[in-house]
Amino acid sequence: MSQAVRIAFLGGLGEIGRNCAVIEQSGRLVVLDCGVLFPNAEMPGVDLVLPDFSYLFDRRDDVDGIVLSHGHEDHVGAIAYLLREVKAPVYGSPFTLGIARNRLDEANLTAEAELVAVADGERRAIGPFDVEFIPVTHSVPYGFATAFHTAQGVILHSGDFKLDLTPVDGRRTDLARIGHLASTEGIRLLLSDSTNAEEPGHTGSESSVGESLLRIFETRAGRRIIVACFASHVHRIQQLAVAALATKRRIALLGRSMIKNVGLARELGLLSIPDTALVDLEEIGKVPPGELCILSTGSQGEPMSALSLMASGESRWLTIEDGDVVVLSSHAIPGNEWAVAKVMDGLARRGAEVIHAATDHVHESGHARQGELATLLSVARPRSFVPVHGEYRHLLRHSRLAIEMGVPPNDVLVCEDGDVVALTDEGIDFDGEVSSSYVFIDGIAGDVGMGVLRERRVLAEEGIVVAAVTLDRKSGVLVGQPVVVSRGFLDDEGHEELAAAARAAVVKALEVAAAEGHPEPDAIRRLVRRTVGKMVNERTRRRPMIVPVVVER
Ligand SMILES: [Zn+2]
Ligand SMILES: [Zn+2]
Repeated sequence: MSQAVRIAFLGGLGEIGRNCAVIEQSGRLVVLDCGVLFPNAEMPGVDLVLPDFSYLFDRRDDVDGIVLSHGHEDHVGAIAYLLREVKAPVYGSPFTLGIARNRLDEANLTAEAELVAVADGERRAIGPFDVEFIPVTHSVPYGFATAFHTAQGVILHSGDFKLDLTPVDGRRTDLARIGHLASTEGIRLLLSDSTNAEEPGHTGSESSVGESLLRIFETRAGRRIIVACFASHVHRIQQLAVAALATKRRIALLGRSMIKNVGLARELGLLSIPDTALVDLEEIGKVPPGELCILSTGSQGEPMSALSLMASGESRWLTIEDGDVVVLSSHAIPGNEWAVAKVMDGLARRGAEVIHAATDHVHESGHARQGELATLLSVARPRSFVPVHGEYRHLLRHSRLAIEMGVPPNDVLVCEDGDVVALTDEGIDFDGEVSSSYVFIDGIAGDVGMGVLRERRVLAEEGIVVAAVTLDRKSGVLVGQPVVVSRGFLDDEGHEELAAAARAAVVKALEVAAAEGHPEPDAIRRLVRRTVGKMVNERTRRRPMIVPVVVER
């Protein structure tokens, strides 16, 4: 009998974001990834969504390490929130740790954090686990697949990956090592990236984007070129730099994360841009348009980003003019399409030629499509399979692919956030659940609950009615008239009509209540809310937030 190994999924299954899994053996835990989810329109005022770490907070002394697969925010963005409560060393490639350090700096946690850099192919003992870091190609440098050598065999987590045979840095996904593991120890369980599991074929090589970027630069001689891309996409930035240098342009960096990440990547030798090719933002006015390339953040249409400010004419650094070329070398993350389209429209209105993924080959995904996912399955030949990193339909499609590739249907589990699976001598099965609710972070307020969010949605969609009454403390009788104020769902005239009716309804209800005795203020509050809510709903068919206020004097 070998020890059981359990995996708890705290996030990333059923959504693209807040990836976090916990692997357990002999009562010891290793955390794999610790990411954020970016909020959508249903989360007004929310800045970030975190995994629910309460499972880890309850067992903070059992955590032996945190492994970061790569430097994207959906994998490292929540690291400061976890490290604040759980003290454990953090493992990752130097680039990944550099990105994580930015998050820790912001939280003043860098000094106490123990960051352990690991190299391609390295193996580390982390608690009871022997963890192996296997290179994978992705849209950020130095991503890893991780092989956990456990009492139940090898658990291979693919990380975010693609199979690019001509990656910009020459660092290919190490299928040979995965094949070796499969044919020696065997792979007990494969957890694999499902982002593009619905897409047939293969994702194109990142270097193919470089060729088309160069063509765009060559055919826009004499014009200023501004390119927006992810600041962590160092390979894209490298290819843009090559295109800029080949067409005798100097490069200016715009946006805080662009400046930070380019600095980090150059420091680590992952990005080759000579000092002479860079020009300070303050100096760009002196460079002729045809000799300038500006690399900017904001490819997701984020409201305060450099590109959005350009589109609205509010950038302090440059004003878009006729003849400017703006390239969005990116793909809108689901949910951001509308914001991106608005930014592109703003840029076009100001005279820019806007080039994006629909007009030219200026972007390739960092995630494997079906052909590559099938290749990994056929190389790894796992005994069991759990799709990870995807919305539910991606996970489902990936699970079918695994079965088509020969994994027995009983050994394929489609899990969701909060599920726990156990590997035992008998096989793989569900083994309970842990809390996995969304934890909403609002910049100033910190952690806001589901209740607050529900209130915000009601306020935004339905409006609010405040009904205030003053009661005589001794008799409980109404003093003067109730005051009714509404916001967000009626014009002045409509409000006056409604307020008069609400006042009358409240007076009547209070008279009835007073006749039956001297009710408590709480009961009065409930009565006022019920009376006004019913009346408003009958007259307007709306359900605004009703706030009763009871004052005694
Ligand atoms: Zn990624
Ligand atoms: Zn990811």
